[in-house]
Amino acid sequence: MMNRQLIIGNTVIKEIRAKSALSRSGLPEYDYALNPYLGCQHGCIYCYAMDFTKGEPGMKWGEVVYVKANLIELLSREVRRFKPGIVGLSTITDPYQPVESIYKLSRKSIEILCRAGFHVSIQTKSALIIRDLDILKECADRVDVGFTITTMRNTYKVIEPMAAHPMARASALRRIADLGIETWIFLGPIIPGINDKREDYEPIIRLAKETDSQVIIDRFRPRQVVIKFMSSRLSMTRPASGDWWVKVMGLIMKICRDYGVNCITAEDEWKTIKEKGDK
Ligand code: SF4
Repeated sequence: MMNRQLIIGNTVIKEIRAKSALSRSGLPEYDYALNPYLGCQHGCIYCYAMDFTKGEPGMKWGEVVYVKANLIELLSREVRRFKPGIVGLSTITDPYQPVESIYKLSRKSIEILCRAGFHVSIQTKSALIIRDLDILKECADRVDVGFTITTMRNTYKVIEPMAAHPMARASALRRIADLGIETWIFLGPIIPGINDKREDYEPIIRLAKETDSQVIIDRFRPRQVVIKFMSSRLSMTRPASGDWWVKVMGLIMKICRDYGVNCITAEDEWKTIKEKGDK
């Protein structure tokens, strides 16, 4: 059932009624996924989520976003029935994209989940999260916050046109880390010829050192839908040569060792979680 709709910037926002709030997560690090929105106003050109999002928000990536208008009502009921676990907020959208400033669904969800004994793992590219420092502080031992930062250079504008400036993300990360909350940085995807230079990632590793954040590194994984979307917005993509990732990864890991920062590849992270789960 479709309800109200509004326009924010270049995005059409449509309210929908969802059937459930929490879903089983396909990611090994989470027990549940919670996505208050379908689609994402940040419109990153490399976004894999467009391939997992059904209907209009997936087909018109960044141009149409659905809001689960009854999410809080559903979640309030589900937390009484479901066993507490780790909730990934959000796994196929950004929980702090601009529409969150109106609906506050991420804020209210964190509040409900943490008070019900769940742990919330938040990942964003937005400084809007700073609005919720009060609730993050209250839930300090039940939340972790990750910022995706792919480069500290202005190249970010080409690949993440509507996301916050990396300096704004860095400053938000510092404020959250100052509260004693566990923080991490997702350094990825690293795309050949776009953000694979030392000047892209060394400042990010320095930021991780300063905030005592773990760094999770990942390379771009081409998917057909994403490549098509990317080529419509970027003229300069180049395929990776055979040993491109080995070289880039080798240099990143060396810089991490030099700074004494805990860096891990996304693959190694998944492997470690799976091994823990198998024991
Ligand atoms: S912020 Fe995340 S979910 Fe949103 S478009 Fe970018 S990569 Fe996709």
